[in-house]
Amino acid sequence: MSEPEQQEELRRVMVIAAHPDDPEFGCAATIAKWAAMGREITYLLLTSGDKGCHDPEVRPGQIAARREEEQRAAAEVLGVKEVIYLNYPDGILENTLDLRRRLALILRERQPEIVVTIDPWRHYQLHPDHRAAGQAALDAIFAAREWYIFPEQLLGERQPWRVKEVYLFWSEAPDYWEDVTETVDRRIAALRCHVSQVGDRLERLAERVRDGLRQAAKDHGMEYAEAFKRIKL
Ligand SMILES: [Zn+2]
Repeated sequence: MSEPEQQEELRRVMVIAAHPDDPEFGCAATIAKWAAMGREITYLLLTSGDKGCHDPEVRPGQIAARREEEQRAAAEVLGVKEVIYLNYPDGILENTLDLRRRLALILRERQPEIVVTIDPWRHYQLHPDHRAAGQAALDAIFAAREWYIFPEQLLGERQPWRVKEVYLFWSEAPDYWEDVTETVDRRIAALRCHVSQVGDRLERLAERVRDGLRQAAKDHGMEYAEAFKRIKL
């Protein structure tokens, strides 16, 4: 089967991340490209980033509402179909059995062929939510395809679900490069929507993002690329 035909089949994509803005900092040019190809993209955010503000006068609930709105605006720029928030508290996310169970159920119900998430094995990654989100997503992908894990979810019509491909962003061991020359500007435009996070450093940030993507592309015959560790299941 040729590569384009193969890609044709992988229509549903779920991006699982810890915070609003993680996808825009990690993989959004790829998301814009895939959405334009006709893939159906869903964002699943485990927290709403309610600690993403250093002003002690602003309450976490206010920040969460603002960041959810910013994330929805960014998603619209990219062509993402739906954004789901699970509303776990920001900064203290854990890969618990409960979270894994919940994610497995979502995977079994929504049946994404592709999952994009954070590489939890990146060394010295300080933010616990990033590690926990990637780990929980991968553990749930494993659980979702097994009959004997969370079998109570399989009573009735629901079946195990096998995700076909996983793409890990922020990886130290990338082995797949997506050519995003056409959509790098979309990623910058989506980043711009996260006003509470990028604020007045957007121009510097945009330059940094472009530099990073050029760097990732340079050995692969592309102008701009996003790098991933790809796991085929
Ligand atoms: Zn984050």
